Amino acid sequence: MAKYIPEPFRIKAVERIRLLSREERTERIKEAHYNLFNLKSEDIYIDLLTDSGTNAMSSEQWAGIMNGDEAYAGSKSFQSLLEVCHDIFRYRHFQPVHQGRAAEKVLFPLLLGEGKYAIANTFFDTTRAHVELAGAKALDAVVPEAKEPNLDAPFKGNMDTEKLLCLIEEYRRKIGLIVMTVTNNSAGGQPVSMANLRAVSKIAKEHGIPFCLDAARFSENAYFIKEREADYENKSLKEIVREMFSYADMFTMSAKKDALLNIGGLIGIKDDEELYRKVATRTISYEGFLSYGGLAGRDLEAMRIGLLEALDPAYLRFRIGQVRYLLERLEEAGIPCQKPSGGHGVFVDAKGLLPHIPYHQFPGHALAVELYIEAGIRSCEIGSFLLGRDPETGEQLEAEFEFTRLAIPRRVYTQTHLDYVADALAEIKKRRETIKGYEIVWEPPVLRHFQAKLNAL
Ligand SMILES: *Cc1c(COP(=O)(O)O)cnc(C)c1O
Repeated sequence: MAKYIPEPFRIKAVERIRLLSREERTERIKEAHYNLFNLKSEDIYIDLLTDSGTNAMSSEQWAGIMNGDEAYAGSKSFQSLLEVCHDIFRYRHFQPVHQGRAAEKVLFPLLLGEGKYAIANTFFDTTRAHVELAGAKALDAVVPEAKEPNLDAPFKGNMDTEKLLCLIEEYRRKIGLIVMTVTNNSAGGQPVSMANLRAVSKIAKEHGIPFCLDAARFSENAYFIKEREADYENKSLKEIVREMFSYADMFTMSAKKDALLNIGGLIGIKDDEELYRKVATRTISYEGFLSYGGLAGRDLEAMRIGLLEALDPAYLRFRIGQVRYLLERLEEAGIPCQKPSGGHGVFVDAKGLLPHIPYHQFPGHALAVELYIEAGIRSCEIGSFLLGRDPETGEQLEAEFEFTRLAIPRRVYTQTHLDYVADALAEIKKRRETIKGYEIVWEPPVLRHFQAKLNAL
């Protein structure tokens, strides 16, 4: 039987959620043109759409909200955020911004441009978009294990260093940036090992290429290193984080993930004064003055506290344990999933569960719709529906995987909620042959999954 690690917190404020009747749910999803992004959050019982910005803040963070210094310049909240950032990351410069993609927008054009390339273990969507908006091309070099959902390997988020070297050989001086996404979001929240960070850092230095961490899930990654990598078991999480960041020259961070905020972002520059000055200039143009960077003083206060709470071992043990528990419950019910569980969610292998639905009828999406109808749970397709069409031929592409992602918001749901999710999927499995695919009846030209209208077949 799966084992649940009890919450290392108790509940002080609650938010009502309600479960509509099956008839109402069937009606609502039809009105939403079978697109889960069109549902109203009040019509959802358990919302596993994303772990981004959906965190529950602590009472300490809420107290920080009241204490925020809203001065335009020289805010006390900015100063205390800097102190905590220096202590955790050991970089010289930090710049708050309004979210992760703002960090990318400010930083990337300083390192990339027309004819340049950036290489990552796997680029997150907005990160790839900002590489391209800067005029450069984005290349992925993730280890081959990442592409085998059934293979239980400890660090499936790693960069393939041989492939990295080949790409450096091929493009030489055109490479403007190497990015390591920790954890590797697009590969299912799989972690990157310290050994891999060290190796990539060495390669970057030898070739004179700047090395940037995409650090949204820095503390979850640190926890996996402590748990799985030799010689790190007895190190503190802060020591592990310091070592991780010591290998890079800079970082961008969406603070909507591990920093336990609802909105926020951060840039860190280790010691390049000239680069920092340019970052500061662009921040003022796009985000606001340096001591608030597109956020309110209270947000900076909540970020400071969230960064510290993110490194609490009891919290991380619970957090990673909760995700693992859901995976184990699903495995007990014979539901195929990506293994091992990552940091922020469980990826159900919809192709394995619904083999009768072809990729162009979107099995991952069909399962997500079914989960809403069955139990009022919102999840998200990561597969051919998300991937889209060949830009030249307009033909639907076939994704490598057809996943239904169950992202787990931090500190929001309890064991009973997760049991309810597992039971709902077990119920769906019983009648899986009856589940039908979907066709798109309308779609916009870019990022279609947010707005497309679908029909049940
Ligand atoms: C969420 C995320 C981003 C973008 O951050 P936003 O705060 O959503 O703008 C960038 N990289 C990774 C790895 C992320 O998970």
